[in-house]
Amino acid sequence: MKLVTFTHEGSTRIGVVEGEEVVDLAAAVPDLPQEMSAFLAEGARALEQARNASGPRLSLASVKLEAPVLRPPKFLAIGLNYADHVAESGLEKPKHPVFFNKQSTCVTGPYDPIHSPRASQALDYEGELAFVIGRRSRHVPKERAHEVIAGYLVCNDVSTRDWQFRAQTMTLGKSFDTHGPLGPWIVTPDELGDPHSLGLRTWVNGELRQESNTKHLIYDCFDQIETLSTVCTLEPGDVISTGTPAGVGMAMEPRSRLEPGDVIRIEIERIGWIENPVVEEPADTPRI
Ligand code: ZN
Repeated sequence: MKLVTFTHEGSTRIGVVEGEEVVDLAAAVPDLPQEMSAFLAEGARALEQARNASGPRLSLASVKLEAPVLRPPKFLAIGLNYADHVAESGLEKPKHPVFFNKQSTCVTGPYDPIHSPRASQALDYEGELAFVIGRRSRHVPKERAHEVIAGYLVCNDVSTRDWQFRAQTMTLGKSFDTHGPLGPWIVTPDELGDPHSLGLRTWVNGELRQESNTKHLIYDCFDQIETLSTVCTLEPGDVISTGTPAGVGMAMEPRSRLEPGDVIRIEIERIGWIENPVVEEPADTPRI
């Protein structure tokens, strides 16, 4: 099943994609929550209702797809999680997984513009597999981690390299508004199959920049859940992005950075693709 958050005629709600159509869950099963995190928190019964929903359908072309989770309770990502990316970064393979926060206000839709911030001169992309937590959970052993994943999606872990390397936490360099494109939908585990055998490719303006496979993850999705849930309670709607392979602009010779007018497309096998244009940060961004 492919779960989406979409906007149609000014109203934002969730649905299920079937072919070129969206089953409008707000109309088909009105008693279900219409926001993704709340829906996932309802658990297996709600998923089953969504799966069996028949009712009003909208063509995909007539709706705007939003980030499947508009404001994740937590948005974490892991750095240096593909050996080839560790090598191109000129860093040592970490002894422990290196997690960092992306502020949830950076989340944006699968086709929405990425702002080139006035305050940064080093905008870069990172194509990544991400997953969404479906169950409130703590101390999840690796062998049961699959039970708490609601599904998988594509993430661009957009980074401002100048801000990223000013501080060890990396938080600010990973958190500018619009620097967390997610989507196009959440593919549930039963439909996706093995999350650790997915081809991943990133193009900038049609030029292939990243090409890898999630089988090369150093810490796989289940390792990441075990580690994170040792520390904190995972909650429905939390998004974890699993790291990027080699081919980021920062590592190119000469070093490449994103400019307004560039278009980044990230595609993951059996999930789909997101495509975001880069624009100047609008001059009318509210200051207070
Ligand atoms: Zn990343």
